[in-house]
Amino acid sequence: MRLRFFCALFFVFSFLFSQDKYPKDTFGSPLDIPLVLAGTFGELRSNHFHAGIDIKTQQRQGLPIYAIADGTVTRIKVSHWGYGKALYVAHPNGFTSVYAHLQKFGPEIEAYIRQQQYKKQSYEIELFPDYGDLKVEKGKVIAYTGNTGGSSGPHLHFEIRSSITEKPTNPLLYGYDVRDATNPTLVGLYGYPLADDAQINQGAQKVQLNFTKQKDGSFLADKVTAIGTIGFGFNGFDRQDMAANKNGVYAVKQTVNGKVYSEYDFESFSFGETRYINTLIDYRHFGKFKQRIQKCFKDESNKLSIYKTLYLDGKINIQEGLSYQVEIEIADIEGNDIKISIPIEGKRQELKIQKQIKKTENLVIASRPNSFDLEGAKVYFPESTFYQDFYIDLKKGKDTVSIHDGTVAAHRNFTISFDLTKHPKLNRKKSFIARIDEKGNLRYSKTYKRANTFSTRTKTLGTYTIAQDTIAPTIKPKNFKPKEWLSNYRYLSLRIQDDLSGINTYRATINGDWILMEYEPKTSTITYNFDDKIADQKQCDLKVVVTDNVGNSTTFEQTFFRK
Ligand SMILES: [Zn+2]
Repeated sequence: MRLRFFCALFFVFSFLFSQDKYPKDTFGSPLDIPLVLAGTFGELRSNHFHAGIDIKTQQRQGLPIYAIADGTVTRIKVSHWGYGKALYVAHPNGFTSVYAHLQKFGPEIEAYIRQQQYKKQSYEIELFPDYGDLKVEKGKVIAYTGNTGGSSGPHLHFEIRSSITEKPTNPLLYGYDVRDATNPTLVGLYGYPLADDAQINQGAQKVQLNFTKQKDGSFLADKVTAIGTIGFGFNGFDRQDMAANKNGVYAVKQTVNGKVYSEYDFESFSFGETRYINTLIDYRHFGKFKQRIQKCFKDESNKLSIYKTLYLDGKINIQEGLSYQVEIEIADIEGNDIKISIPIEGKRQELKIQKQIKKTENLVIASRPNSFDLEGAKVYFPESTFYQDFYIDLKKGKDTVSIHDGTVAAHRNFTISFDLTKHPKLNRKKSFIARIDEKGNLRYSKTYKRANTFSTRTKTLGTYTIAQDTIAPTIKPKNFKPKEWLSNYRYLSLRIQDDLSGINTYRATINGDWILMEYEPKTSTITYNFDDKIADQKQCDLKVVVTDNVGNSTTFEQTFFRK
């Protein structure tokens, strides 16, 4: 027993130590075109860091994707949103490669998925094939590039994860050839007074700093006067050589008088921590200007593991009469970098700009659950919904409740409930909770209905309302007409739309048999491929039923012929 345990242990350790942390030249390229990036690993996205690289596909779809090494398919996911069609391949060296937003899979994998989709009668599906059931060989085609899911243009989203921890790692650490001799670009530089008595340039508020480019290519900020605990942040991006895309930077290092105060990079992170991006960026600034400032100091609520070095959490204590030289280095993964110097003089001066805290009657204590009764609506924030205490702005209108605004991030779901007792005439079946977005559009929020209470769970602050949708979805054929002969057609496609609550389900049959319709919400299109051979009879009676999120339903029926 004991011997077996030690043998197992020995095996695990010899496996771990025989490995390079990031083996170079082991993995092949997933594409046979030059690798040009539309997105880098760790890039700052909405509520998450980008977990892979986005490889541009020359504005095209359908480029073959090659397995980067021998392996076995361990997971397949097909969804309307997110990664769209995605493939996960585990390799014997302990890494899993991920390919997302695919147009379609390689023939063998595609056939396997179709079979399961017909069995489950669902386009959306998640499969975990048994180890070895779907083997792939290095360099063989496993899928084709596309634009499915939450993708705003054709590209391949490519990841390399640890198979054991599932932590995504930076794919560019494995020796991929991405031409990059271009330095990161600095857009803005900011100083933050962090303690109550701290000030920068006679202000107790965040201040934007001017900088000029020096002859040697470095940047020099105008001299700063400050006192107390302060920090810095910047807004910037990185470009590679062959594209104009503004991608994320790789590494940030801040030194004070030569000592490293903070240092982080995007070698790897975990999915469990990714939402803490909201503490790395100045979220208030982001909410107002849609521009991300990366802080060189770490907030107390910031649980990110990306830091290599931290001294005093990257915060700088400026004392009267002393001078300081702060250097910020921003680098891409190829080591192209820019240096910014900020000279600081420790000096207490008359405060000209006071700290502005907009006080409301409701103070949220982040470490506790907080609930608010707004006469007709309730809001419940579980403990640790927020990163820090703040005065929340809550307003109740006739049918609306406003929960602060987009300048504060929530880390977890909170609950909004509406009491409908005073709305006896409201059509409960056709009503739902909607968020009113920045453009004034109503966005369906998954609504739980119980007697006189409607509730929803969300992570998005803003204005919510009770909306009503009595109009059923529309269904229109895109490429065929009634009683038409479609013998030479390769596919059927229809446009399905819903004006308000949005499409919840769609179901199509031919002569009573379920057919697989691939739904692409970006183009409001559902598509059936005749290769599935469900419509083998001469007369085909097509029936499509589409239901919206409050149960309004439309049925479309049409006959066509094939031989
Ligand atoms: Zn991506």
